[in-house]
Amino acid sequence: MNQRTHAWIAIRTIALLEDGGKSKDLVKLIKPHAAKAAIGAWIPDLVDAKRAGSQIGKHVLKMKPYKGKVLKERFIAEKEELLERLGKSRLMSSYIDNDTSLKTHWWNKPYKGDIKVPGQHLANRAMAMSVMMRDLLIMGDQKVDKLLPGAVRFAKNIDSKARTKAEQVALYFFMLSHFISDACMPCHADARKISAYNKGKGLHHELETRWSGIVKTKFDKKKLLPVSSSIKPDKILKDAKEVDARFGLKFKPKSIPNLVAGDVWLELINICRGSFAVASIIASPKPSKYPYSNKVRIVHLDKLFPENSSEKLKDLDRMVMHDAVLNNAIIWRHIWQQAIPAKMKKKKKKTA
Ligand SMILES: [Zn+2]
Repeated sequence: MNQRTHAWIAIRTIALLEDGGKSKDLVKLIKPHAAKAAIGAWIPDLVDAKRAGSQIGKHVLKMKPYKGKVLKERFIAEKEELLERLGKSRLMSSYIDNDTSLKTHWWNKPYKGDIKVPGQHLANRAMAMSVMMRDLLIMGDQKVDKLLPGAVRFAKNIDSKARTKAEQVALYFFMLSHFISDACMPCHADARKISAYNKGKGLHHELETRWSGIVKTKFDKKKLLPVSSSIKPDKILKDAKEVDARFGLKFKPKSIPNLVAGDVWLELINICRGSFAVASIIASPKPSKYPYSNKVRIVHLDKLFPENSSEKLKDLDRMVMHDAVLNNAIIWRHIWQQAIPAKMKKKKKKTA
């Protein structure tokens, strides 16, 4: 995903949480800073971010068949099991459920993602940031403290300048959104050469370009950065919601689920596993097509969707964008909830 798509997803997430009506304090904290924080959503893709452990185009968990013998079972997720792990709210679940191209023998095999540089690992990055976010929220300044339920008795002993500001919270949530959103992009979870970035050619690039073409220019850095201070938060959220119709998106803000897995790391692993299945649905791994062992570097979207291409592509667009926004809302809310002392949380509900 490129800059404007990442910016739109993060801003759209605030609007989804606001419409859900159950994350009022979190929305109150970050919404006023939506425009200025937007850069956070694309910082991980910027050259200088490399020094901090990032790397352009490489926030991935690229999977392929696992040939090892050790812990083989760990890398198998049969279809029913994966669907359970993903839950019913994600469109990825119905996309995978409706597929008939991946047969039982595909689902019964182990698949694993090998990441050479730890900082590129999507689940690691999301987990690291989400744990740090909780600590930063606890150490928030007075404004943050007022909105986060529960007293933090040691906070008054921290230098007031060292305490986390609302602007920082917004910026870091947006940075986290980058990794969550990348996990929803099928090419980031598929080790085949056809899913590599390929210098602006083929599947990966064509999908990114297609999505940013639908998002359109309102979320371009050129428009966001220099004028960000003058864009009213309500206006930027309204602009973000106007993109929904072009993707055919219909959210259910009142039923944002809780994290399905035990923690953010596992949740991201499951999302990446789902994205890998999606990549294998859209570019068949059959020996006659694009097997995991082949060296084909480039495949074009029109070759993958020769029939009903418009409908099939729209389904894919809708699924990826819906889930990117929803996954961010789920994980942001989870972090916020985790920073609240247990006794202050409202009675546990299935959805909140
Ligand atoms: Zn990225």
